[in-house]
Amino acid sequence: MIKRIGGASLLALGLSTPVLADHHDEQDVTLYRVFVGDHQAAQVTAFDLNAPDKRWTFDTKGQVKLYPVANNTAVAAVQSFDDQVNFIQTGISFHDHGGHSDIEVSEPKAIEPPLEGAQPFHLLEHAGMVSINMDQGGYSVLLDSHELSEGEFEMRQVEQNQAHHGFVIPWGDDWFVSVADAPDETGKAHRIGVRTLNAEGEPNSEMVKCTNLHGESFSGSYLALGCKEGVLTVKESNNGPEYKMLSYPDSFPEGEMTGQFIGAQSYQAFLGSYGKKGMVVIDPADAPHLQLIELPFRRVDFALDPVKIQNGYVLTEDGKLHKIDMMDADIVQSAKVTQPYSLEGHWNDPRPRLAMAGDEILLTDPKAGVIRRINSADLTEVGTIEVGGMPYNMTVVGGSGVSH
Ligand code: ZN
Ligand code: ZN
Repeated sequence: MIKRIGGASLLALGLSTPVLADHHDEQDVTLYRVFVGDHQAAQVTAFDLNAPDKRWTFDTKGQVKLYPVANNTAVAAVQSFDDQVNFIQTGISFHDHGGHSDIEVSEPKAIEPPLEGAQPFHLLEHAGMVSINMDQGGYSVLLDSHELSEGEFEMRQVEQNQAHHGFVIPWGDDWFVSVADAPDETGKAHRIGVRTLNAEGEPNSEMVKCTNLHGESFSGSYLALGCKEGVLTVKESNNGPEYKMLSYPDSFPEGEMTGQFIGAQSYQAFLGSYGKKGMVVIDPADAPHLQLIELPFRRVDFALDPVKIQNGYVLTEDGKLHKIDMMDADIVQSAKVTQPYSLEGHWNDPRPRLAMAGDEILLTDPKAGVIRRINSADLTEVGTIEVGGMPYNMTVVGGSGVSH
């Protein structure tokens, strides 16, 4: 969606200084706007990567997890522990002009009022809708992406069979939903599979088994889901969803599963987790479907590169960043980029998070109070940005376009 128009050297430097193009009234503009949440303080801080001294601050109710939505025109700040989701208009939008994209830049601003719900958690965007699951409410909230891009939203709700940590995805005329069993003595409902509901919310297909379902992402025409039995791929077709369970190969360490995915945008593949010390490269269409990459230490976070599309990056708890070649399913480069962050302790303890900004990998370093800018070509640090507090979850919007 975001087209790159020339300016290769600008991208390499991560600069966005406008330069004159062929026409004196046109400019190539590269702009990345960073949104970062604090581990403790209820706020989102935003700044442009090329001018980080100018800050915008948005108050929230609690700690946020940040997602770009509506073609990067908005950011959702999901506050799972405070029953709220704030939306911020990013102030960056792209308009396709056929041969090039125009970029429009303005100040970011909060969309009011925020959305409330009982423990909002997973957020997905598909088929022009943003879906946020309310884990304790037993429903998902569905919002129109285009409305969000214009700074407003109306919401509709799709009910689930049980309140659980799951999802609802728009699927043609139907809804594609996670299914949980009845709550046990502790009140916990276990995820056991998926099925479709009709527009009225009535089940209209048999449940397909996916024990301990966790993690969902789209790439090409596939949705990938993490299950105890393997990776369940689901393809959209005229006859409803086409399912295929890709079992974990015997060579994979036993008793682990994939629970988190990132779908590639430019080709059909996924980078997924496998247990705490593994990554898996997933080809939903062709064998080998699942290829394991063993990490030297436990995984802290990972990202896919939308520019150098063969690359993925994984940070391990020893503070090393590893470059993964998605084609070879192999680690091709490693470098120490931060102090060690042990995975012992709570899953939500402050630890670094990764985000991509053109030719840079950005990494929050909560203990150091900074964001580190890492060159994706050689994994060297090209600079740091002082944020203060404990920078934690982060997302980046932007790219390159023509301003005229
Ligand atoms: Zn234009
Ligand atoms: Zn989850």
